Amino acid sequence: MLKEEIKEKLLNQDFYIKGNYKELLNYHYNGEKISIDEKEWKEILNDWQYYILRKKGTERAFTGKYYRVFKEGIYICCACGLPLFLSDYKFDSKSGWPSFYAYIKKEQEKERIHQELDYSYGMIRTEVLCNRCGSHLGHVFPDGPAPTYLRYCINSASLYFIEKKE
Ligand SMILES: [Zn+2]
Repeated sequence: MLKEEIKEKLLNQDFYIKGNYKELLNYHYNGEKISIDEKEWKEILNDWQYYILRKKGTERAFTGKYYRVFKEGIYICCACGLPLFLSDYKFDSKSGWPSFYAYIKKEQEKERIHQELDYSYGMIRTEVLCNRCGSHLGHVFPDGPAPTYLRYCINSASLYFIEKKE
């Protein structure tokens, strides 16, 4: 089993947003936040996901499961199921991490991603987190392509991909 796989235990949680591609695409985020204590996260995530999502870990470049994936679909938060990125926003940054120039943002909707300054490792970076469950996703850098010129550099382990199937 891949270390990034979602455990049955996590998928069976009431808070997890489940659905097929179309349902997830049409999902409306009302701004709700879920709060799970760290002990519980530790039980429902596997060790690798816990390290990345809850301890703000970073997977090594070119090791994750999605940096080379360019199929059509939607990327959801691995920890809570919130739809975050469309494959349309994905580009090949050659960085070794899945990279997106934008996240899903609909009109009349609350932000799905929360940003925070991160001063770790002697750098100033902007951390991006899932706004619903507070899990760490990665960082955003100002060197992406048009139209936003942003690069959301996300750990594969923070995401789960739902492929579009006709
Ligand atoms: Zn989440």
